[in-house]
Amino acid sequence: MTYKITINSVEPVTHNVRRFRLEKPEGFHFEPGQATDVAIDKDGWRENKHPFTFTSLNDWSELEFTTKIYPERNGVTDQLGKLQPGDHLLIEEPWGTIQYKGAGTFIAGGAGVTPFIAILRQLEKDGTLEGNTLLFSNRTEDDIILKNEFELMGGLRTIHTLTDEDKPGYEHGRIDRAMIEKHVRDFSQHFYVCGPDAMVDDIKAILADLGAKTESVVFEA
Ligand SMILES: Cc1cc2nc3c(=O)[nH]c(=O)nc-3n(C[C@H](O)[C@H](O)[C@H](O)COP(=O)(O)OP(=O)(O)OC[C@H]3O[C@@H](n4cnc5c(N)ncnc54)[C@H](O)[C@@H]3O)c2cc1C
Repeated sequence: MTYKITINSVEPVTHNVRRFRLEKPEGFHFEPGQATDVAIDKDGWRENKHPFTFTSLNDWSELEFTTKIYPERNGVTDQLGKLQPGDHLLIEEPWGTIQYKGAGTFIAGGAGVTPFIAILRQLEKDGTLEGNTLLFSNRTEDDIILKNEFELMGGLRTIHTLTDEDKPGYEHGRIDRAMIEKHVRDFSQHFYVCGPDAMVDDIKAILADLGAKTESVVFEA
């Protein structure tokens, strides 16, 4: 089923990430970590569906997407970046990406953190965040999505690494085997990985070699 929903608000999260709050259809339900296919309700764009993850929780009165805008690609996110409150999106039924299976380490690259936003928000709300770690890679400090929110989440251990900046308080460089071994002791815990193609492949291979099982989603970004 396709739902036509109204954009209620658009706010910046970082210099190139926007938060869209939207009307929630009556009875619409999704699991934290699930995504849906989204199209813009404008001529020429209705058939151009792209996956985006719900970053709101089920008991919110609105839906939320947290979306990285790539203006240079002249694609769907460039168009999304031009939308205003009152414009409409078309969304489909939710479908699964990453499902929380128990305490573990969430490894994200850039906008790949989006499936983890709803999962971590839900765990915080339920008071069951203790024992989880977020290992989050970004190019620069300014690129980090929801840095303050993650750091304030009670029970969540947060480690940031920056690939293009070397700053106090941050790891420097990509998430590689040495960085994983530095921050992870127990490889029997759950691992959840989401980011660009090559990053997910590399990290899954490292984790498999270390004896871990991984849930992953590839964001072709
Ligand atoms: C399950 C799932 C959930 C997702 N959830 C989110 C989310 O919550 N938030 C979020 O921000 N993103 C999310 N994504 C990623 C998101 O779907 C893509 O970033 C988005 O569809 C890309 O749209 P675009 O406007 O950049 O380019 P498109 O409309 O895909 O392409 C426009 C043009 O750019 C070209 N292009 C495409 N990729 C590249 C590239 N890497 N480099 C150069 N040119 C390129 C294309 O060939 C095309 O000509 C998710 C992806 C998946 C698979």
